[in-house]
Amino acid sequence: MSDSSFDNSAFSSALRAVQARINAACDAAGRDPASVRLLAVSKTFGPEAVRAAHQAGLTAFGENYIQEAVAKTAALADLPLEWHCIGPIQSNKTRPVAEHFAWAQTVDRFKIAQRLSEQRPAELPPLQICLQVNVDGGPTKAGIAPHELSELVLAVRRLPRLRLRGLMCIPDPQPDAAAMQAVFARARTLFDDLRAGWDGPDPLPDTLSMGMSADLEAAIAAGSTLVRIGSALFGARPAKLADAAAAPSADPREG
Ligand SMILES: *Cc1c(COP(=O)(O)O)cnc(C)c1O
Repeated sequence: MSDSSFDNSAFSSALRAVQARINAACDAAGRDPASVRLLAVSKTFGPEAVRAAHQAGLTAFGENYIQEAVAKTAALADLPLEWHCIGPIQSNKTRPVAEHFAWAQTVDRFKIAQRLSEQRPAELPPLQICLQVNVDGGPTKAGIAPHELSELVLAVRRLPRLRLRGLMCIPDPQPDAAAMQAVFARARTLFDDLRAGWDGPDPLPDTLSMGMSADLEAAIAAGSTLVRIGSALFGARPAKLADAAAAPSADPREG
């Protein structure tokens, strides 16, 4: 986490450029820009980068590596920030997620959901969760298979210390924007089905988390309500850490 090179004015112009892309994508889709939240993905960037982003008006931050995130939340405890866990959650890492995050977007197994609910501290509001869905990949990819989703939804809704906010997906890059949008559209259909079948006292899920720096337009066209943007805001990540992001089990800090 290197802060010395952080450039506030470069951040502000990057933020304006990202907001312009979101606005243009919403215009093209006939959507209200207020219907798309911007989650700033601050993984590998230090507390000063997050502090500058907060000064520029951002309040919600996404982190992939639990240890790194816990250190950052401690260093930034004076700010009213909303932390989202967007990295893989192993069962031995559920406690710090339950204790330090407002959201966990990558829940894809009941066992993980159950541990998060049990470990959520009583003094905190319920942990907001998204279920990660594998809309494009093979059996080894993270995320629940679409045909198993409704069963997981039912089980997770019974857990007292979680609140299901919606779905999340991280599809692989596609050859062109139309193909990308078609994959995102599968997640949109699952989200629409989830909402259509919803009954009971807990609030209707409102979050479809999809879209990153390279594909936010296709995601917004398909109905994303939350885009997770890292490099377009903060710049390129260090190569070694970018590799770790692609293969999280290789991250030495998670060992
Ligand atoms: C790193 C990451 C992002 C941000 O990716 P960029 O391409 O830098 O915008 C978004 N979502 C997840 C799950 C990530 O791991």
